[in-house]
Amino acid sequence: MLLLNKVAVITGGGSGIGESAAELFAREGSKIVIGDISSSAESVVAKIRHKGGEAIFVHCDVTKEQDVQTLMETAVKTYGKLDILVANAGIPEKKGPVHELDLQDWQRVIDIDLTGVVLSNKYAIIQMLKNGSGVIVNMGSVLAHVGQINSTAYSASKAAVVNFSRSQAITYAPKGIRINCVSPGYVNTSLLEKLPPEITHQMIEKHPIGRLAEPSEIADAILFLVSEKASFITGTVLHVDGGYTAI
Ligand code: NAD
Repeated sequence: MLLLNKVAVITGGGSGIGESAAELFAREGSKIVIGDISSSAESVVAKIRHKGGEAIFVHCDVTKEQDVQTLMETAVKTYGKLDILVANAGIPEKKGPVHELDLQDWQRVIDIDLTGVVLSNKYAIIQMLKNGSGVIVNMGSVLAHVGQINSTAYSASKAAVVNFSRSQAITYAPKGIRINCVSPGYVNTSLLEKLPPEITHQMIEKHPIGRLAEPSEIADAILFLVSEKASFITGTVLHVDGGYTAI
């Protein structure tokens, strides 16, 4: 097992990529703490426990500093330490040209997709510094690296997450904490469910591999980065995008 006796906090672990990572990490021996605003995380915890794993759900809005602090402290109180953070919670944006931007829509995406990641890193690192070790994966996107028509807050927040991660990686490398990003292409999760079929088809065409990713394929990449298999990797971005950004 790659994560035997590790303790992992996964934000947004109640569905999609986060859910898949929580289940995979649990199979690899990690104790799981899911921070999410959705009670769907309770069923993820139940599934993990049903299979003999250990997991808890902490209601946490990643935009609220007190919630995030409580999330990390609860992980340590429950399981004795914090080894891994996957800062995964995120929402899509309402697409539109910037001259029609609604500032509230912008702010909500920035709050969750960027500030939520920053707060999660802050309070996880406070705990990791006590151990002198830790590993973080922050969730990027192909849209951190390439432009997309009518994308504003989402592209901006994901690009910021990538460079934020690089800076934190070099800040905390001497303290034994590794920090990387995973930048997925489009993944079959609830984020995409409401889109019309023609848009889904256009999305598929952007991936040379000829299909969208499954959440488990993103979870596998996250597992690699948080495991000892990636012990010399910090400050990097792992593109898990079926060739999207290679074009
Ligand atoms: P998802 O909607 O299935 O899961 C997101 C989870 O985040 C949900 O459980 C939701 O309740 C939670 N969440 C939302 N706001 C929150 C908040 N304020 N505090 C705590 N939790 C909150 O989405 P997903 O596709 O699994 O996306 C996960 C991450 O991957 C996101 O950061 C997303 O931007 C990124 N991503 C997704 C895709 C894709 O195509 N699905 C592609 C690239 C990157």
